[in-house]
Amino acid sequence: MLFSNNWCEEECEQNRLAAGSSEFQRDLADRVYTSQLIGKVPDLVMHGGGNTSCKTVTQNLFGEKIDVLCVKGSGWDLGTIEAAGLPAVKLDPLLKLRQLLKLSDEDMVNLQRANLLDSSSPNPSVETLLHAFLPYKFIDHTHSTPFLALANLPDPMAAMREIFGVAFAMVPYVMPGFELAKIAAKVHDETPQIEGLLLAKHGHFTWGDTAKESYDRVIDHTNRVEEWLAQYRVNKSVQVKMPHAHEQQDFLLKLRGALVDCSGTANSPVIFNIIQNEDTLRFLCRDDVSLHAKAGVATPDHVIRTKAHPLLLEFDDVNKSRQDLIKLISSYAADYKSYFQRNATSSVAPKTMLSPLPKLIWAKGIGLVGVGATAKEARVITDLAQQNIKVMADGADAGGFHPVQEQDLFDLEYWSLEQAKLGKAKPPAMQGQIVIVTGGAGAIGSAIATEFHAAGAEIMLVDKNAEQLEHIRSQIDPKISILQADVTEPDASTRIIEAVTKTFGGVDILISNAGSAQQSSIIDMDQQLLRGSFELNFFAHFSLAQEVFKTFRKQAINGQILFNVSKQAVNPGQNFGAYGLPKSALFFLVRQMALECGVHGVRVNGVNADRIRSGLLNDAMIAERSKARGVDEATYLAGNLLKKEVQAHHVAKAFLALANSDRTTGHVMTVDGGNIEASLR
Ligand SMILES: [Zn+2]
Repeated sequence: MLFSNNWCEEECEQNRLAAGSSEFQRDLADRVYTSQLIGKVPDLVMHGGGNTSCKTVTQNLFGEKIDVLCVKGSGWDLGTIEAAGLPAVKLDPLLKLRQLLKLSDEDMVNLQRANLLDSSSPNPSVETLLHAFLPYKFIDHTHSTPFLALANLPDPMAAMREIFGVAFAMVPYVMPGFELAKIAAKVHDETPQIEGLLLAKHGHFTWGDTAKESYDRVIDHTNRVEEWLAQYRVNKSVQVKMPHAHEQQDFLLKLRGALVDCSGTANSPVIFNIIQNEDTLRFLCRDDVSLHAKAGVATPDHVIRTKAHPLLLEFDDVNKSRQDLIKLISSYAADYKSYFQRNATSSVAPKTMLSPLPKLIWAKGIGLVGVGATAKEARVITDLAQQNIKVMADGADAGGFHPVQEQDLFDLEYWSLEQAKLGKAKPPAMQGQIVIVTGGAGAIGSAIATEFHAAGAEIMLVDKNAEQLEHIRSQIDPKISILQADVTEPDASTRIIEAVTKTFGGVDILISNAGSAQQSSIIDMDQQLLRGSFELNFFAHFSLAQEVFKTFRKQAINGQILFNVSKQAVNPGQNFGAYGLPKSALFFLVRQMALECGVHGVRVNGVNADRIRSGLLNDAMIAERSKARGVDEATYLAGNLLKKEVQAHHVAKAFLALANSDRTTGHVMTVDGGNIEASLR
């Protein structure tokens, strides 16, 4: 599909006016504008891959003019970049580097940082010197899908000549950094009339006197390559079959369990992102799919995210025994270890091996499965994986897919700058844990989600109130997952498990929290009211816990079930019988399940909370009760041994503490500020 040119003169002019009147501000406004236009199209650049720059002038504190290069800073994404993401570096010291014969990456980064105008800026891109050495005001560099197919052809030069004639030159593959910058500048200087560079096995560079000219060329060049590729595209009429929901669920759960096992420790982060669409399933049906699985990546920096190769699985592989599945994963890991050893021995600086387990799985009949320590990482992996399979398919149809080979991939994957980052950040305690929270839109449910999210867990927030769920999500993090479901509906448990598996690949913790209190004296109680209360306050907990336990068994890894019980279970309150009866059954369920599930590594615990401002004890009820007792609301809420109000976040912290207590099961923790009548014995 062709790329549209999204330039809008008015929008650009508005940005210029908002930025200020100096040449520097106006240039930077243009630079930000077209960088965003490029960055918003995933098939042009993806996840920080690609960068842009502009050369302009500014003044120092003495009023002296300084030539600067504003270039994309690391950590910024082109689609959302702002002026602060294009740090200004003094141009002259960068240009002087071209005289050197050699420059280490560390020295390059240091010199770039030392010449920043604002010392708090992010590190300028690793491709900064290439931008500096090319003598153009605006420069755009993309890793677009069509250019990657072109760049990885067996003879990219011939195809490039056919498409662009003498308007382009090709730069042979060299790892990004000083050496690539020097070679690219040399190729340019030998053919200064060109308007673009094809970086073999890597991407595209183009430029212009204005941001618009450079952007127009990005779109025009990319479309010319796309049109050229389109003529070779083989008509793919293969019919693909979407897997049944339960087959897919089985596949993912068994795979996730085996991967967690292989990672050595029981709670190692394995979060999936699954891409399942016709194009992907069709690609996985290709006769040459196993060749592609061993080919490599479309542009070398993908190797840092996805590794060089995916693990290719047949649909039936997960139906073999657990040991057989583990053998397949172990054999992938063994290949990775030998790749590391082969290449690490020839490198000068000592290298630390990364996890040898796959980051990406090509699962025939299922789709692409990204494996991350977080859902975010897994999503980045599948985004890149989708681009890779498009590039591979287009390349194969147009002559072949011949990406960089082992040593070059290793150099990038084990780049000294990447290795230096290892082990610096301690992962949060709950990283890799997939948590279902029911009653997620209420005060306690949302406090639990907030607490677990902050501790690094992946959250599936469930509630019957869709509007309130959306609201809570917007308050916690727009990226957490939500599911509208009434836990008393017969199919709720199935839907919840299906959603959590499809979103993350499995589940580790259930926090069964949904509940509601009905009031009536026992003597006058309508049986329907009591039965209704049992449905929500006992059977819904029971059914979901049962389903989640079965899911743990399919994964065959440890898990946890946490119930929000209530002090009503042990300390009846006037007219709360209809609530207390099912809650005391739930209290018993904690112990019964703990007894039966412990042997499978599943811990079951609960929390008894009391007098928390929430949907269960709302403002009107607080007003009514405090009045009935002749005290003000604050005194009523602080009516406990500690004389302090207990809030939803205190309850949430108790759930988190239980989740972190590795050797605790069958326990119910009281969170009520102290009440001897309700204390457990
Ligand atoms: Zn690049």
